[in-house]
Amino acid sequence: MLIKVLGAELTDDEAMSFSCPHFDPDQDYCRLLKNDCVPGRPGCVLGSKAVFAVPVEERLREREEEKCQQEFERVYGPRPRQN
Ligand code: SF4
Repeated sequence: MLIKVLGAELTDDEAMSFSCPHFDPDQDYCRLLKNDCVPGRPGCVLGSKAVFAVPVEERLREREEEKCQQEFERVYGPRPRQN
């Protein structure tokens, strides 16, 4: 994920590396917000200082769609593939 901190002089390599102390990599989970880690979401430590290649609203929507799909498949099983 491309993250650039406004006002900082960063190379592209530096801008792409970010480590958050609240991130639980096993669950892809934010321990601070007790929710999925979606950098830049409301309450995230990155706040309004970061600019993302994909807007946070779009990533939040995609994450919710993924969760709906996972819940559907948990209840009803995988959808049949169409050839
Ligand atoms: S949502 Fe923000 S504060 Fe939470 S783990 Fe992800 S980057 Fe860190």
